[in-house]
Amino acid sequence: MVSQRRVNESALIKRRMEVVFLLFLGFVVLLGLRLAYLQGFQSKRFLQLANRMAGRTVALDAERGAIRDRNGVELATDVLAKSIAINPRAVKDPALTAARLAELLRLDETQRAALQQAIVDGKAKKSAYRLLRRGVDRKLAEQVKALGEKEAALKHVSLEDYPVRVNPCGADGVQLVGPVSSDGQGIEGIELKFNSVLAGKNGKRRMRVDGNQLAIPESEVEVETAVDGRDVTLTLDRNIQHFVEEELAQVAAEQSPDAATAIVMDVRSGDVLAMANWPSYDPAEKKPVKPEQRRNRAVTDLFEPGSTFKVITAAAALEAGVKTSVYCSGRRAIGRRSVRCAHGASHGPTDLRRMIEQSCNLAAGALSERVGPTGMYAFLDKMGLMSKTGIEFPGEEYGRLPDPAKHPEKWPTMRTVNIGFGQGVVTSPLQLVSAYAAIANDGMYQPPRLVLNASGAELPAREPRRVMSAANAASLRSYMEAVVTDGTGKKAKIAGYSVAGKTGTAQIAKNGRYGHGYLASFVGFLPASKPRLAILVSVWHPRHGQYGGVVSAPVFREIARQSVSYLKIAPDTPNDLRDGAGREVSDRYARSGQGQVND
Ligand SMILES: [Zn+2]
Repeated sequence: MVSQRRVNESALIKRRMEVVFLLFLGFVVLLGLRLAYLQGFQSKRFLQLANRMAGRTVALDAERGAIRDRNGVELATDVLAKSIAINPRAVKDPALTAARLAELLRLDETQRAALQQAIVDGKAKKSAYRLLRRGVDRKLAEQVKALGEKEAALKHVSLEDYPVRVNPCGADGVQLVGPVSSDGQGIEGIELKFNSVLAGKNGKRRMRVDGNQLAIPESEVEVETAVDGRDVTLTLDRNIQHFVEEELAQVAAEQSPDAATAIVMDVRSGDVLAMANWPSYDPAEKKPVKPEQRRNRAVTDLFEPGSTFKVITAAAALEAGVKTSVYCSGRRAIGRRSVRCAHGASHGPTDLRRMIEQSCNLAAGALSERVGPTGMYAFLDKMGLMSKTGIEFPGEEYGRLPDPAKHPEKWPTMRTVNIGFGQGVVTSPLQLVSAYAAIANDGMYQPPRLVLNASGAELPAREPRRVMSAANAASLRSYMEAVVTDGTGKKAKIAGYSVAGKTGTAQIAKNGRYGHGYLASFVGFLPASKPRLAILVSVWHPRHGQYGGVVSAPVFREIARQSVSYLKIAPDTPNDLRDGAGREVSDRYARSGQGQVND
């Protein structure tokens, strides 16, 4: 009996303890929720309250990391400028203050109106602080501040240090680097792609305010340290980039084309040493920039490669081990349509060398047919021509064809033949030059890269791969050398070096129709005996001549000549002094497009 009651009592105590514990637990949970609410959801409000009471918290700008070329030259970096702020609440006459500021800072009418509006808005909200203008020239800003000592209209102005983005190399590589927004965030190019590396993290500082609610600079206390952004190093070489851009500007001046692109690549590493597009812009000019001036066509535009693709077809044929000799009668009927060689040429018995040297359409078409849809598709895929290269640049476009294993009906004979000479297939300039670089690099494809180092940030995985035998790559190089010694690309030759390459002259199609001028290309590498550099030059719709061998080969030559000299690449044919410009004729004549060509 007794023991039974004791048991009941202890059970009762236990239950009471449980109730007390639950109540306590509930209290703790409520407290926690309240705390989370205050800290999480209301913190901004409290911060504002605190600011109003004791001073002001302002962002402590993190310095954005620099973008450098492979030798450390800064292509984009932050410099400290001044920003101008004001206490709108204390301004008596917003119109007068805005007018004075506009006059001193040399602003236009629109900018003056915006200043006035900002002051009026701030006044309406009884605000004591409004940032008016960033990136003001230091001297001008200090002049304004000094005038504020005696001039009522400028009395409530304060200055702050503020980082602004500058491009110390001007136009060189500006399309790759990309611009940043007014608040310092990358909006295009490397600035966008690597924004998280470059940006860093802003800190906070607190300042007391004076009677006019203006911050007292001496009272500044750092509350939260800013973490500066980290640097990104590109594979570009600023010097090569510079003369590539100059050569493009020159061909643009002579040919008034729609656009032009050039890429210089180190074939051993896949490093892009230069990548340029015309039209471009100089950020220092501070003029409005049109979208086409910002476009990095080398990565974001696709074209029909035309004859430059015949080298790829030849590679596919060699790798597939099909018979490579073709008889060219100049014309071949396929169903109700026909394929022709250019300029009514009939090349007769045509082997690979002759096919590439003379740019024979029929032979290239026949080889594509012999390799067959499945074989061609697989080879093009292996060469990186059916997928993104994975280069570290936003908005990469890439060529693609339907997989013949799944869609055999999309590879009728006519299409298979056309693909052989670069029609009915598209590629980006970068995809094409990377495929050529694999031939230059003894059959090893190196995925192209634009970024050497991003301060430890992870970069896309790059696996070199064998895409053809070293022997086949060597054969192709010798055929491509014939293009420059005896074929359509003689103007690409530079003295002292063997040069291998291929011309291309493709009609430009828009909305499925040809008749928008020609794409004139030259793609190649040098020294042909031991290649170091692959170079692509493409000019969209040149107005004085259409051929790759006339318009683009000379640009290739000038880029090649300056690159080998700058990189101190030893001549491999020191006694061969032929030059594509011709020794007795001037450069200008050679570029004017008056030569005899058969492309
Ligand atoms: Zn032919």
